[in-house]
Amino acid sequence: MPARILDGKALAGAIEESLCDEVAAFTTAAGRAPRLVVVLVGEIAASASYVAAKARAAARVGIDADVVRVAGSADTAALVALVSEIARGSHGPVDGILVQLPLPRHVDTLAVLDAVPADRDVDGFHPENAGLLSQGRPRFIPCTAAGVQRLLVDAGIATAGRRAVIVGRSDIVGKPLALLLSARGPGGDATVTICHSHTTDLAEHCRTADILVAAVGRPGLITAEMVKPGATVIDVGINRVETPTGSRLVGDVDFPAVAAVAGAITPVPGGVGPLTVAMLLANTLLAAELRIGRR
Ligand code: NDP
Repeated sequence: MPARILDGKALAGAIEESLCDEVAAFTTAAGRAPRLVVVLVGEIAASASYVAAKARAAARVGIDADVVRVAGSADTAALVALVSEIARGSHGPVDGILVQLPLPRHVDTLAVLDAVPADRDVDGFHPENAGLLSQGRPRFIPCTAAGVQRLLVDAGIATAGRRAVIVGRSDIVGKPLALLLSARGPGGDATVTICHSHTTDLAEHCRTADILVAAVGRPGLITAEMVKPGATVIDVGINRVETPTGSRLVGDVDFPAVAAVAGAITPVPGGVGPLTVAMLLANTLLAAELRIGRR
């Protein structure tokens, strides 16, 4: 039987709908909308399109989003200064600050991210927020990891006592997701294995998974032979590949072959991506509510 398709786009739409009411209630109470400032550095087309999608989604739920564009030649010191100024209110009131990644190679990414104050860190990358997550008392959870967990819970896919294998150990996706799935409580209590580029026998590890997450950035890495029949497969990867007629987006999973083996699978696009955006909106509202003591 072909796998059940886990529709991240539909779930993100439902999340946005419920956020609309919450954002409206905040706006009435605070006398202003929650406000997100996004810093976009350079001219990477994919980054520009992700930022545009985030701004459109913010507008749909009533969050005020401002995109600050910076030349790709800006150095680390200039970007740190800019983020610090934004945090101090140079671009108006600000509840959340997001620095779109990747930054140009000559920039010290961690230094720039560290300039985002922990209480405005809606991406959840600040060491304080990473620490809170690792201690099981999360504040801002990295959006993609939060989106994957939300998708599993919403789809009724049990995690407690199940084996989860996450391929990819980045601070942005793999690591926080491993913390979430192994934490106590709903959407957690899984037994988690993290794989990476030094993992030997990747296929063998993957075949043990009840829930297999690919967060690598390599098209076709996960093949049908690596998937246990009936497993849930979550494809976080976003890769642009050339086709005879142009190009298209694919994940890390060989979708047609794996969908024939898996019990459930996320498509690319339309799977994890929209949930990442929805979780960003939720984090921005949370930041705004924390600021005025509503949470
Ligand atoms: P990173 O490049 O930071 O991390 C990739 C991870 O994959 C690393 O841990 C790396 O191992 C591991 N890896 C690389 N090659 C292999 C291999 N052959 N076998 C096993 N592991 C391997 O990427 P990100 O975590 O930032 O992103 C991963 C993917 O997810 C990308 O395609 C990105 O575009 C996408 N993404 C999608 C989002 C969404 O909303 N859907 C949001 C964020 C990212 P090592 O640590 O050893 O180098």
